[in-house]
Amino acid sequence: MAVGDETAVARLATVKQAIVRAEEAAVRRGGPAILVAVSKVFPAEVIDPVIVAGQRVFGENRVQEAQGKWPALKDTHPDIELHLIGPLQSNKAADAVALFDVIQTVDRPKIARVLAQEMKEQGRSLSLFVQVNTGEEPQKAGVSPGDAVSFVAMCRDELSLNIVGLMCIPPIDEEAAIHFALLDKLANECGVEGRSMGMSGDFETAISFGATHVRVGSAIFGARPTKNGADG
Ligand SMILES: *Cc1c(COP(=O)(O)O)cnc(C)c1O
Repeated sequence: MAVGDETAVARLATVKQAIVRAEEAAVRRGGPAILVAVSKVFPAEVIDPVIVAGQRVFGENRVQEAQGKWPALKDTHPDIELHLIGPLQSNKAADAVALFDVIQTVDRPKIARVLAQEMKEQGRSLSLFVQVNTGEEPQKAGVSPGDAVSFVAMCRDELSLNIVGLMCIPPIDEEAAIHFALLDKLANECGVEGRSMGMSGDFETAISFGATHVRVGSAIFGARPTKNGADG
């Protein structure tokens, strides 16, 4: 246990240094990229030392799993910012609004409407990203690139949602850089600042293409057991 914890904390420092180097190498518009530490599958005992080491922004991909560990961790550390980075079903929207601070996977009008309603009922205002299916993969969530501008406009104008950025998960078998460049271009067209892109294998590339948020799991917490490790 202790060895594993130290490893996660040591890896956190390595990832943070790599982000700083990538930012120095890139011509950046905004401030430093925000590291979203993706803690899915890992239990609270593994996450806690990473919090103690100073990390405050975390990502989880399942609402139910997050409910099992984050309420207690957030009680102890009220300044935690928790991001939902996995698909959201309407019947989990109330729970997601109650627990998460940011939802990165808004991808269809129905879930946008349900989130607007839930935030109103709960008196909470979350920051939201629209997920874009940059590779137009049939099995993957996200609006298609051609629909991004109109969908973001609908979320803002009709539902008054606080859309802060776009998010993408590039196809596994393609050059990620092409997808990062596309997301950056779409974010400009949509008039949003946030670009959530880049994971353990490619966050430095994502930063060079303007990532504002990188979602890094295994490079911090180590390899996930494959059973629950599949993305999305
Ligand atoms: C799991 C996951 C990540 C982190 O992946 P790593 O390769 O472990 O860094 C990032 N984004 C999403 C959407 C994920 O589901």
